Amino acid sequence: KNKQKTDIGLIGLAVMGENLALNMADKGWHVSVYNRTVPGVEEGVVERFTNGRAKGKTIEGYTEIPDFVESISTPRKIMMMVRAGNAVDELMEQLFPYLSPGDILIDGGNSNYEDTNRRVALAEQKGFRFVGAGVSGGEEGALNGASIMPGGSVTAWDEVKPILQSIAARAADGTPCCDWIGPAGSGHFVKMIHNGIEYGDMQLIAEAYWVMKNLLQLDNEEMASVFAHWNEGKLRSYLIEITANILRHKDKAGGYLIDKILDTAGQKGTGKWSVINAMELGMPLGLIATAVFERSLSAQKNLREAASKQFACQRSQVLYNKPELVKDIYSALYASKLVSYAQGFAVLQKASETYGWDLDLASIARMWRGGCIIRSVFLNDIAAAFEASQKPKHLLLAPYFREEIKELLSGWKHLVAHAMKEELPVPAFSSALNYFYSLVSAKLPANMIQAQRDYFGAHTFERTDELRGQFFHENWTGHG
Ligand code: NAP
Repeated sequence: KNKQKTDIGLIGLAVMGENLALNMADKGWHVSVYNRTVPGVEEGVVERFTNGRAKGKTIEGYTEIPDFVESISTPRKIMMMVRAGNAVDELMEQLFPYLSPGDILIDGGNSNYEDTNRRVALAEQKGFRFVGAGVSGGEEGALNGASIMPGGSVTAWDEVKPILQSIAARAADGTPCCDWIGPAGSGHFVKMIHNGIEYGDMQLIAEAYWVMKNLLQLDNEEMASVFAHWNEGKLRSYLIEITANILRHKDKAGGYLIDKILDTAGQKGTGKWSVINAMELGMPLGLIATAVFERSLSAQKNLREAASKQFACQRSQVLYNKPELVKDIYSALYASKLVSYAQGFAVLQKASETYGWDLDLASIARMWRGGCIIRSVFLNDIAAAFEASQKPKHLLLAPYFREEIKELLSGWKHLVAHAMKEELPVPAFSSALNYFYSLVSAKLPANMIQAQRDYFGAHTFERTDELRGQFFHENWTGHG
């Protein structure tokens, strides 16, 4: 048989893989697909696709790995969209015997970047190439345009670029939301921080909602209007937009659905990974950590119910000025979001230096402008800040953001203070504010911590006077 070879192979036909295959075919690529198991063997992969959504599209299904690999033109590009973890390693072992030198494996799943470090090395050692590509945007992004963050074997980029950029979302200026990130597992690392930032954004929006509801007693329609209004300005973003839609959404049984959803948040671990890796790098990522911990605390519903009976929170009957407080909530949300992105990008910068990745922070900000969950107009300003001829030491020190924070600070601190007095939790707003105050403190009480460490553990300390630079141990107790 002298069949024409396909442009790319795709393995894993769960929700992400199936939609990516359709997206590729829509962009004119010829796609081979394979899935470990086929639902209803009698149907077959091909039938599943030709009878279903892939009818009439340039997609060919295969039930055996050798046939699947053979159907793709060399150097082969094979994208894996399978469950993160062992499945990727098992699949690689199954594929290796059938690959030709120079073939490219692309892992589009949510893999841990350290696994990707290892897999890039393994594939290259066998004469193949490996790309770890973070994909954000869920089912809808997979079908209509995702944000794609590829890293790994650098020579693979020219080969996979036309396909990956064609299936990526486009920013308002037409740029594809997909560009080369860097070597090894850097693409998956950047995707992980993206997800961490997503946790932070969601917690901040949830706090804004909670303050409006509890201190201003706004109803769902009023809150929806506030979010819709914010979505016309500097906070314009996908998450703000869907928040307005969620608040307006009616339940079939009457009333609003949001009021009937149990307040226990789930998590799949990418937020946690972001925080663990920031800790490994010795970098503060407090806002995302707070967002992760708040999800954990929300999940302890029974405990919270028991505790709420023993410590009834005291709320004053103060009537807040609505436009003023809404403006303060806006300030707290916007300023805290700035802090969160500043922390996230600082972690990327540190990872780049530590692992030698040479990350382009402006390019990463641009890639997140479309397709992904955290897409927003605000990312344009971040890209611009990192592109300036004078690179900012920290995002909050970039001239534009410095001026923004100066304007927001008064509303931000008033909001946090009011909420604390009213015994209403705003953990992310206040975490951000505390970080900001610490950041702008030339002096912190860490002298006391160093003294204590030296007192009980002889860990030594530096002095502030002309002896600075040397380490001292004090005999604190006077005992010999
Ligand atoms: P998933 O539920 O994470 O994984 C299911 C797919 O993995 C199925 O095709 C399954 O094949 C395959 N699989 C599992 N173990 C395997 C093994 N040992 N060998 C071969 N194949 C195996 O699917 P998904 O939600 O589409 O996500 C795919 C990847 O994209 C994941 O890494 C996920 O974290 C990431 N991701 C998902 C989203 C999302 O919104 N869902 C967004 C971004 C990224 P069988 O059918 O044979 O079981």
